[in-house]
Amino acid sequence: MNDYRPDYFLLHEGLADIDLIAVSNVLSGKGGPFSAAIFVLVKDEGGVYKVHHQLPVAANAVLSLGRASAHAEDQALRPHILRETEAVLEKIKTDFRAPATRLLFLSSAQPCMACFSKIAICARSFVSRGLLQPRHFDLVYGATYADTESIAGFKDYGYALDFVKAAQNRFDPSLLVRLETAMVEGVPENVLAPLFAGKAPRAVLVQSGAIISVGEDRRGAAGLFATAECTALHNASADLLKRRAPKPWDLGGATLYVRTQDLDPLTYAEGQWANIGKIVTVLPPDNGIAYAQTQVAPDCHNGALFATIADGYNNPKSSVAVYCDGTFENRAQNTWASKLDRKMYNGSEAESAFTQKNCAAFDALFRPCFLYAPAATGVSPALAKRAS
Ligand SMILES: [Zn+2]
Repeated sequence: MNDYRPDYFLLHEGLADIDLIAVSNVLSGKGGPFSAAIFVLVKDEGGVYKVHHQLPVAANAVLSLGRASAHAEDQALRPHILRETEAVLEKIKTDFRAPATRLLFLSSAQPCMACFSKIAICARSFVSRGLLQPRHFDLVYGATYADTESIAGFKDYGYALDFVKAAQNRFDPSLLVRLETAMVEGVPENVLAPLFAGKAPRAVLVQSGAIISVGEDRRGAAGLFATAECTALHNASADLLKRRAPKPWDLGGATLYVRTQDLDPLTYAEGQWANIGKIVTVLPPDNGIAYAQTQVAPDCHNGALFATIADGYNNPKSSVAVYCDGTFENRAQNTWASKLDRKMYNGSEAESAFTQKNCAAFDALFRPCFLYAPAATGVSPALAKRAS
């Protein structure tokens, strides 16, 4: 039983601070009203976890990078920041004889499923490398999906519901991204050659019969999430940005051909945001060659990770403990709402998925471990009810 709970003042002040970076981000026009940052905590002699090191605060960069998934959490987990975090964790191991370390990940808003997958993969990576104890990774968010939709206009809720549905039945025809399996005979010639070239896993993105990008697994040098599948999506958006397309984050129903047979949650969620229409898993040609595939977490297969993440915040196999600050002031989203020349991007055009039935099913799964709602600060009854 985990009886640890992050210190209220630390997380509340921390969220208020990073929210100011999100305000600047909105005013600069680089992206949406969201920010995130990692804090490394170490237990002091009195048994209290205190901030030992703070990593750079990152903000949403969808507009500046032209990539649908360049959310604040994604930016807070960029390779150079993860390398710095690893170095800090390594040093703590050396400097302290019995290190009691926790990572606190603050996000100004409830993470989407792509970001939540990245956070989970990161936590699992640190644990598997002996840098962190299991469940010593705490995520605290400020704005809920409901806040983000009603104030900033981004409808994350429907994407999350669709993600849960995809984990339950990947061939459900009503999914936002259709999932299919194909034999090589059923795949266009021009797709097969780049898909099965090279030793590292590859993915090919096709629109109207033409290849618009090819991705190769670049993890390691390019961090934890540069899988072939994600790289193909990101390359396509980078190319559209270079050609000054008005909405480089929107890949307009393209088809992603992959050779990873065990679909991972990151590919699906990134595909949702990039607005692709279909992911086709191509079964390898029958030539006896074993083709490398993507496995996104070091300690479990993709399907198991997908199921665990889609099972919400309280699955016992979850690598991250999730909390909500019900007293978050949410300045950045209000700044965004009042910005007359704001440029909306993927997530704003989706239909609202709020219904009583949806809410009940979703909230049962995605209820934070604890909601910080001190009576003195006058938190809304709806939020207080959610965590009860
Ligand atoms: Zn996200």
